[in-house]
Amino acid sequence: MRIVLLGPPGAGKGTQAARLAEQWGIPAISTGDIFRANVKGETPLGLKAKSYMDAGELVPDEVTNAMVRDRLAQDDVAPGFLLDGYPRNPEQAVELDGMMKDLRIELDAAVEITADFDVVTERLLGRAAEQGRADDTEDVIRRRLEVYAESTAPLTAYYEGSGHLVRVDGIGAVPEVTDRIVAAVESR
Ligand code: AMP
Repeated sequence: MRIVLLGPPGAGKGTQAARLAEQWGIPAISTGDIFRANVKGETPLGLKAKSYMDAGELVPDEVTNAMVRDRLAQDDVAPGFLLDGYPRNPEQAVELDGMMKDLRIELDAAVEITADFDVVTERLLGRAAEQGRADDTEDVIRRRLEVYAESTAPLTAYYEGSGHLVRVDGIGAVPEVTDRIVAAVESR
């Protein structure tokens, strides 16, 4: 199973990616998690990414694409993967298509987890209180949602065009949403 998860920040991509990874026995790859680990470890990659992340902006494509290309070349990805947070704009989607072509593998589905902006804003503010993520402040949340609307939302049209798009309602109990995704993907 090779899946891309789409949806606004706070729609539950990370939570669902972890559950789906377990169910399908494939790794969940979160570009946000990889960046955060690098920021924490003060690696060169982390130093490059930090200012963008703190501002709610996208890390430059050349940095992000190279990181994903490396990750997809690792052995554990052979049975499949879930990408959470990548691609984030149409240029990254084109790049991902190229990487997969080079690896001679194909995407099964791009799952868009839908949730309206009021719901996700509230969830993100709640998460800020629980987890203390540096980019979960109100101003940065607003910017991340703008970046989503400007750069990432057009990806649904991209994957609709390629015939990969599956839309799933992200509002509801976590296990229910997981069941909806599994049913939608496995019935394709
Ligand atoms: P996330 O955990 O997916 O919400 O990502 C947190 C932050 O990491 C984003 O606001 C971006 O600054 C950065 N980031 C994660 N994935 C990407 C990506 N595919 N392209 C550019 N920046 C990204």
